[in-house]
Amino acid sequence: MANDTIIVINCGSSSLKFALYSATNMLCLASGLAERLGSSEAQLSFKANNTKVSIELGQCDHHSAIVRVIENLKSSGLLNKPPIGVGHRVVHGGESFSDSILIDEQVINKIKQCSALAPLHNPANLLGIKLMIECYPSATQVAVFDTAFHQTLKATSYLYPIPYELYQQHGVRRYGFHGTSHKFVAEQAAESLNKPLEDCHFITAHLGNGCSVTAIKNGQSVDTSMGLTPLEGLMMGTRSGDIDPGLFEFLISIGMTSKAINHMLNKESGLKGLSGETNDMRTLFELADKGNERANIAINVFCFKLAKYIAAMSASLPSIDALIFTGGIGENASKIRELTLERLSILGFELNNSLNNSHGKNTQGRITNNESTLALVIPTNEELVIARDTLANIKH
Ligand code: ADP
Repeated sequence: MANDTIIVINCGSSSLKFALYSATNMLCLASGLAERLGSSEAQLSFKANNTKVSIELGQCDHHSAIVRVIENLKSSGLLNKPPIGVGHRVVHGGESFSDSILIDEQVINKIKQCSALAPLHNPANLLGIKLMIECYPSATQVAVFDTAFHQTLKATSYLYPIPYELYQQHGVRRYGFHGTSHKFVAEQAAESLNKPLEDCHFITAHLGNGCSVTAIKNGQSVDTSMGLTPLEGLMMGTRSGDIDPGLFEFLISIGMTSKAINHMLNKESGLKGLSGETNDMRTLFELADKGNERANIAINVFCFKLAKYIAAMSASLPSIDALIFTGGIGENASKIRELTLERLSILGFELNNSLNNSHGKNTQGRITNNESTLALVIPTNEELVIARDTLANIKH
């Protein structure tokens, strides 16, 4: 396997995230992101050999972006022969996939069928699959689903209390997302506790631009905050999370179209909507420090909703071995962890300020006092999980 590599692809509607891994030791050799694809201002950021460069791509679609990524990997001396595998992040696997899988015609058709449930994501994921098969027809292509880890949810958690026929006929149910991340940090936590994952009960909080919380009982996802789509649950960067379903009728009565409502709830709500400024937590803290009241409100609503959801997740567990914070906000924003845990003393959480302030990106560890229910910060690594799953499918 010397010099054998695996490419990880996360293809979005206007972006393409990639990473190149060594199949020998699972080290990340290169990574990057092509953004604003489809426009005339496409850009590629490319990190390899400890150097990060930004490249203007001009008018560029997904296909040309992949070609440029491969060119750069080759000229960096990291891709001297075709990769042995390509791992694809696929957002929605519906009820068809409870694990990663080798991609064939049948799998492609099932991912297509799930597109109705994730119209913004699955078609883009499929485009990435098609383009990489064209570039590397001999490589093993593997799909890794955001929804797969949550296929163990019980009906009590996944059913909406609406007419059952909607579930039977149209698959209207809660699916859950960010599964790759929740699973990864749970595995890391079990390892750090020196316990088999099957014996562990965790609550995992993935807090990035998208945010979700999961209850993990005996190593399996039993409840999670995202639902049919990644819009349900926590307040997020630009997504509202839970709202009163009656809001739809009201907004339509004041003249909004369903398309405009959908856009507002996905792109103009959450931290951005409440603050009226930004979805970036760092900027919100800077604004709040300068006395910006709406930034302050946005931060506090975010933490209140998060604490409420963490408490709700405890209803699915016999006990809590650890609460785990991850994602850009979960890993870096110590103040968010503090404001959240101070509302959760009822679950036995007692923050250790000095430990809380000493953890950041790339450092993992405990943030609570010895006698407290345990809370941990664990950096996530979804690309690594996709690379590992791809390798596992190759070896199978
Ligand atoms: P994505 O879901 O797009 O992968 P990330 O996991 O990178 O997002 O998380 C992005 C969020 O993390 C943003 O709100 C960003 O402001 C926040 N974040 C990143 N670094 C910090 C930091 N040092 N302090 C506070 N928030 C941070």
